[in-house]
Amino acid sequence: MSIPIYHYDAIIVGAGLAGLAAARELEGHGKHVAVISKLHPLRSHSGAAQGGINAALKPEDSIESHMFDTIKGSDYLADQDAVKLMCEGAPETVRWAESMGAAFSRNEDGTIAQRPFGGQSFPRACFAKDRTGLTLLQTMFEQSHRDGVEYWDEWYVADIIQENKNVYGVVAYNLKTLEPAIFNARAVMLATGGYARAFKINSNAHANTGDGLSIYARHGLPLKDMEFVQFHPTGLAGTGILISEAARGEGGRLFNSEGERFMEKYAPEKMELAPRDLVSRSITKEILEGRGVGPNKDAVYLDLTHLGKEKILSRLPELRDLAITFLGLDMIHEPIMIAATAHYSMGGIPVDNDGRAKLNQDHRIHGLYAAGECACVSVHGANRLGANSLLEAMFFGRHVGQTIISDLKKKDFLIHKEPDQKDADRMLEEINRLLTSNGDEKVPTLRAELQESMTANAGVFRTEESLQKQKKKLKELRERFKHIRIDDKSKIYNTDLQEAIELGHMLDYSMFIVEGAIARKESRGAHFRDDYPKRDDENFLKHTYAHMDENGEIHMEYKDVNLGIFEPQERTY
Ligand SMILES: Cc1cc2nc3c(=O)[nH]c(=O)nc-3n(C[C@H](O)[C@H](O)[C@H](O)COP(=O)(O)OP(=O)(O)OC[C@H]3O[C@@H](n4cnc5c(N)ncnc54)[C@H](O)[C@@H]3O)c2cc1C
Repeated sequence: MSIPIYHYDAIIVGAGLAGLAAARELEGHGKHVAVISKLHPLRSHSGAAQGGINAALKPEDSIESHMFDTIKGSDYLADQDAVKLMCEGAPETVRWAESMGAAFSRNEDGTIAQRPFGGQSFPRACFAKDRTGLTLLQTMFEQSHRDGVEYWDEWYVADIIQENKNVYGVVAYNLKTLEPAIFNARAVMLATGGYARAFKINSNAHANTGDGLSIYARHGLPLKDMEFVQFHPTGLAGTGILISEAARGEGGRLFNSEGERFMEKYAPEKMELAPRDLVSRSITKEILEGRGVGPNKDAVYLDLTHLGKEKILSRLPELRDLAITFLGLDMIHEPIMIAATAHYSMGGIPVDNDGRAKLNQDHRIHGLYAAGECACVSVHGANRLGANSLLEAMFFGRHVGQTIISDLKKKDFLIHKEPDQKDADRMLEEINRLLTSNGDEKVPTLRAELQESMTANAGVFRTEESLQKQKKKLKELRERFKHIRIDDKSKIYNTDLQEAIELGHMLDYSMFIVEGAIARKESRGAHFRDDYPKRDDENFLKHTYAHMDENGEIHMEYKDVNLGIFEPQERTY
């Protein structure tokens, strides 16, 4: 039986904010667009974002200040031209969302309210209570639906179709029925979100398994700056479920078991509102040195009681509910317990400032684009500032939509390459292998070992020894992955099969994280090496471009950072 082939002008993989912003732009310009998503769009992780989206809106604030904070926050690894583009586009992005109906929280005078966030010199995070992502996602979904974007929900994209670095479609299967399909288009955009799910304690949705990255890397294409994984300071103790930075933005204070407000030692000026990498290290250090709280002494206190009931209920209602549900603690009356949690992926698919996927500094991949958390533009460098990634997803998502519109008019985009049935072979072989394999390894066991070992060996603090240990562990896990058995052999909603495919992705991209971290013998932003605690601009003010060969080995190259008006300085807060 032949596999159906569907034709579009553009295909977008992922229905989070980046994917929807692009889809809306394309559909608005009369393009025939398909959005393929393994989840219902409204379940995308963008909907879990609580705290806010940055834009310099007030006359007292400025684009330059937003740029400087972002670049300093990035530990100077961000490309300054990309940061400029995003910060300049931020006010218009917020107004765009507002004009579509996103209901932002307001000041008394009716202007959009803004709250302080870590590492920012001005309160510039616009928010809708602590449901900012959900508000934006619902708005974008409604609008793109009304415009006629076609959705393929609960379809799993397992491969891109490419020949000689020309991409002309994707291969997917229906999660409900296992029915395969080929989607053909002149432009394919990946918007598959982040990869923090490789860690045990993380704030991410189950779906954040970095599929787009591994799919891309398996074609020998490079991934950029993968060693930079952000650990958010305030995950609920034990689970890692996020307590947004809004909690510290609104005035939350951190205390250890001695009752010390310990941030005085680490960031005397910014205190709790220092950037995430610094606060996460401070918390982890307090715990490692025996000043943790809770039954396992593996957390510290986040105290919000001084804010008062009214403020907590009006500004942080979701966060309060989360702490009551998962810890049984009501932040109105008592401090809650938190610790660092893997949260955000700074690295990803290298793209130019217009979202075209890059082979290296000079060459692009024809027909392939990426935006949002799966992409590395790079605007976050070694450490992202809070409320800059909803901005990235919305701004660059839309911007990539515009790039595709203009590229589709170009002569070399006019040829519509017809896919072949054989293009689906790779996916079909993988599904068949997983369904028929009779080994003795189980997906949940391997995944738990992966996540535990990544947290232990490639987490907030890293050393040569811990990373080498993790490299060995990953090799072992990848070998064992060849012998997994899935008990469910059915075709209806076979989630065991999906989880196996996702585990394969997690194992592959984790190699990039670890190999990148081994090679980067310095500490910068979220990547902290106990054995190389200093930043080393002479050798490492550079982006990592890594690629995987046919044997699964990772090879590294380095590319210059696009510096600009802000000279690298020592980073103190
Ligand atoms: C708990 C939490 C709170 C956050 N709070 C904030 C905040 O306040 N401010 C801020 O700026 N940032 C915040 N962030 C980060 C921000 O939300 C994300 O970086 C951003 O929303 C990512 O958007 P995206 O469109 O790139 O991806 P996502 O929203 O993650 O969407 C990914 C999409 O890809 C699809 N997909 C993935 N793989 C496949 C596949 N193989 N086949 C088909 N579809 C696939 C999924 O179905 C999904 O639709 C937060 C993140 C978390 C986890």
